[in-house]
Order: sequence, then C-alpha cells, then structure tokens
Amino acid sequence: MHKMRALIFGAPGSGKGTYSARLQDRLGVDVISMGDIFRNMMQENSILGRIIKRYVEAGLLVPDPIVIEVLADRLANMPKEKSFVLDGFPRTIAQAEVLEKITPIDVVIELAVPDWIIIERLSSRRICKNCGAAYNLRFMKPEVEGVCDRCGGTLYQRSDDNPAVIKMRLELYASETSPLLRFYETTKVPLIKHTTDQLEMPPEKVVDYIEQELKKLNLF
Ligand code: ADP
Ligand code: ZN
Repeated sequence: MHKMRALIFGAPGSGKGTYSARLQDRLGVDVISMGDIFRNMMQENSILGRIIKRYVEAGLLVPDPIVIEVLADRLANMPKEKSFVLDGFPRTIAQAEVLEKITPIDVVIELAVPDWIIIERLSSRRICKNCGAAYNLRFMKPEVEGVCDRCGGTLYQRSDDNPAVIKMRLELYASETSPLLRFYETTKVPLIKHTTDQLEMPPEKVVDYIEQELKKLNLF
C-alpha cells in the first residue's frame, strides 16, 4: 500500500467531513479535521479553547499562528508511514506555505458544490457531540432521532450553522481558501475534482468516485 497524503477542499457544507470519515472507514487512512480539533478544544473550555470559540462562532478564521501550532503538534504525533487526509487545513496561503515545510502532498481532492445546495444542507445539519459524525435531518437522517448511528452520542446543531454565520463562512472560503486551488495547480499536485449538482447526492457515490480516482493515481 502506498502512503497517501491528501488534502480535501470544499466550501463549508461541501461534504469534506462526511467523505473523509468514509475514506477513513474504507481505506484505513487517518483523518485530521481542523474543525473537529477546534470543537474539542472549545468543549474543554481552556483559555485557548475560549479564544478559538470566539472566532468559530463568528464564522471567522482562527488566526494562522494558533492554527499552525495546533496542526504541527497533531502531525508530529502521527506515525510516519500512515496515510492521511487533511480536512480544513490549509485554509490560507500562509498555512499552505507552512505545510510545504512539514510534508509533501500527493493529491488534492476538490469538492465543488453550488451555494444554494450548501445553504440547504447546513441549515439542517446535525453533528455528534462525541465522534463528530455529520447527519442531515432532511437527507441523511440518523436511525434514531437525536442519536448517532456510529457511537450512540447525542446530536446537536453547531452554533456556526446559522444563516448569518454561514454567509460569512462562504465569503471567507471564496476570498481566502479557494485561491489555494490555484496555488496547488502551480505545484503540480494531482487534482481529483468532484462536482455536486443535486441536493440529494448519496455520499457513497461520491466516495466511490474519489476511491476510483485515487486508484488511478496509484495512491491506493
Ligand atoms: P466548515 O464546515 O466551515 O468547513 P470546519 O468544521 O472545517 O467547518 O471548521 C469550523 C470553523 O473552524 C471554521 O469556520 C473556522 O472558524 C475554524 N477553522 C477550521 N480550520 C481552520 C483553519 N485551517 N484556519 C482557520 N480557521 C479554521
Ligand atoms: Zn457519534
């Protein structure tokens, strides 16, 4: 098996977390989700957790120095030969430049989803408090209302999944994060792009596509 170091890009609600969790189950890769790391830190209620919470709840990006320190720490604790998918990092050019110094990247996965689908999805999204799994009250319901299928944890609505904050997050994705796709184009990292054009897109279909493209690139 090849070692694969992947980045997954997409606007909030494009399915990064959902698909990377499934890639983790199918391919045994490690998933490092910046959003999950921050939500755990927010729950701990440490000083740093409270600082992070102020940014996340306003839909703003957490400042680069904090993000970079947290991420470097997480990567340093990972076995060297393990394949991984980074979800939610890098989100700025400065973060991408730091990442280049830490590790090479083998593939970029881009999820293209129109804004109207994102807004529909995010406003009915629910998250497991315990394991971070994502559900949707309209098209990806849990078997038992309010309970996570995977771990039995309680489901909640993220405080940043409300219309005003969603709008801010989409704007920051367009201005700060999507330019990174051009950055990776110039570094010749292979790109897998999946475009969603309908509201109800079975996650397994998207993951089948990503897995098949990874195989073509000899990454799995
Ligand atoms: P989204 O659904 O918006 O992609 P995430 O769960 O990935 O949500 O991230 C939630 C929030 O955490 C972001 O809106 C942002 O405030 C913060 N965050 C996550 N990753 C980063 C990062 N790399 N740089 C700055 N802020 C980040
Ligand atoms: Zn769970």
